[in-house]
Amino acid sequence: MSRPVRVAIVGSGPSGMYAADALMSQTEVPVEVDVLDRLPVPFGLVRYGVAPDHVSIRSVRDTLDKVLDKSGVRFVGNVEVGKDISMADLHRHFDAVVLTYGASRDRRLGIPGEDLDGSVAATDFVAWYCGHPDADRSTFERLIPSSVGVVVVGVGNVAVDVTRVLAKTVAELDQTDMPQHVLDSLDSSHVEEIHVLGRRGPAQATFTTKELRELGELLDADVVVDPSDVIIDEASENSIATDKAVARNVDVIREWSTRAPGTRRRKVFLHFCVRPVELLGEGRVSSVVVEKTMLDGTGNATGTGVTYEIPANLVVRSVGYRGTALEEVPFDAKSNVIPHLDGRVVLEGVVVPGEYVAGWIKRGPTGIIGTNKKDATATVAALVEDAVAGRLPGAGEPSASGFDALLAERGVHAVSTQGWRAIDAAERSLGAHRNRPRTTIHELSTLLTAAGD
Ligand code: NAP
Repeated sequence: MSRPVRVAIVGSGPSGMYAADALMSQTEVPVEVDVLDRLPVPFGLVRYGVAPDHVSIRSVRDTLDKVLDKSGVRFVGNVEVGKDISMADLHRHFDAVVLTYGASRDRRLGIPGEDLDGSVAATDFVAWYCGHPDADRSTFERLIPSSVGVVVVGVGNVAVDVTRVLAKTVAELDQTDMPQHVLDSLDSSHVEEIHVLGRRGPAQATFTTKELRELGELLDADVVVDPSDVIIDEASENSIATDKAVARNVDVIREWSTRAPGTRRRKVFLHFCVRPVELLGEGRVSSVVVEKTMLDGTGNATGTGVTYEIPANLVVRSVGYRGTALEEVPFDAKSNVIPHLDGRVVLEGVVVPGEYVAGWIKRGPTGIIGTNKKDATATVAALVEDAVAGRLPGAGEPSASGFDALLAERGVHAVSTQGWRAIDAAERSLGAHRNRPRTTIHELSTLLTAAGD
């Protein structure tokens, strides 16, 4: 192929941006890359998932942003694949398509009362406090000031994030990029108790120690652990002995279980070996029925039949993210991922030429941001190998101008890298008014106006 290989990356979160970087860093084939996103802004969960008070983790976007400066890489925002354009369109205008659209939906608990008012998915709560344009503002602005007791289901890092955001004072969040209406709602919160539920023991929790420790460092919240909840069976002892991260988590939890009751305004109760079985309430949730569980010696837990109620008028279900299917793309509905062989999308075991996958939609919602770098780099290696071997489908003479003409024809107002830079400047300037580094613009129309293109 004498011209550059044209690659469309669908989704500008970490895996998409790392894929773009890996494509630009290799020297075997010349490439042109368009990074598409349905939103007018890039960086996916780095912008709309990483907690705003985790400033150093969020700063990875500066690294991702540098990829958009590279010659040959374009950001093409505000374009939804499956709605504005189809996969067939992409295959006509690009030699290869890399799917990196992540796993943005919530997993369900599957228990009675789950849909009561006041029961929300952590994915929605996180989207709201990060200023996602699709977030349901009115629900959270009503629920936050009217909640006293909160139950957070799950003991992963997202559960820790939502607990910390609910337990912090607004002074502790003031220097974040949270939209002002989010800070105002959190300021009006009357939350007193947050109960975090782990269905297995402390050695089986999936949070990381650094994130866990932060719960013990809050200005106006104490962590409370009942010593009888620190259940360590033989399987837990084995995990502690072989996995330093587990040992550190258990140490922190053990130490908290020995603390005398504190005097801070809010309490964060960490419960282990309990699972929610029903949400009760008339219209709005008023309590969660939980069942004590028992570790079975293999790392799993079974119900004991012993139940009790925890009063709560807000329940945040933080039991993991879930990937969804994209029209015209193979999907494994059991694992909620796109089936692949070394990053090459497969349909019933046969490789779909020119189609690749990376990130959470390839391997499921696990790992830290950096995990996506290795993952995306491996997928790009497969793509480059196929390009060198002449295995890409060869889409005629695709060009950037041809793709732009298609978008124009469809009436799609794509946001370019320059448009994103203008949004970026507007957010910094909005933050500067309140002596903050940045404030996230949350309305789609304001983002598009700021983009200017
Ligand atoms: P996660 O780590 O998979 O945690 C999900 C939690 O929900 C687990 O405690 C799980 O318990 C529990 N759970 C699942 N189904 C349940 C049910 N039916 N009833 C009760 N509990 C249930 O997922 P996540 O917290 O959403 O995080 C996703 C990924 O993002 C993780 O890799 C995480 O480390 C990463 N992340 C990292 C950071 C950070 O580094 N600061 C921040 C946020 C997210 P079981 O283990 O028993 O299934």
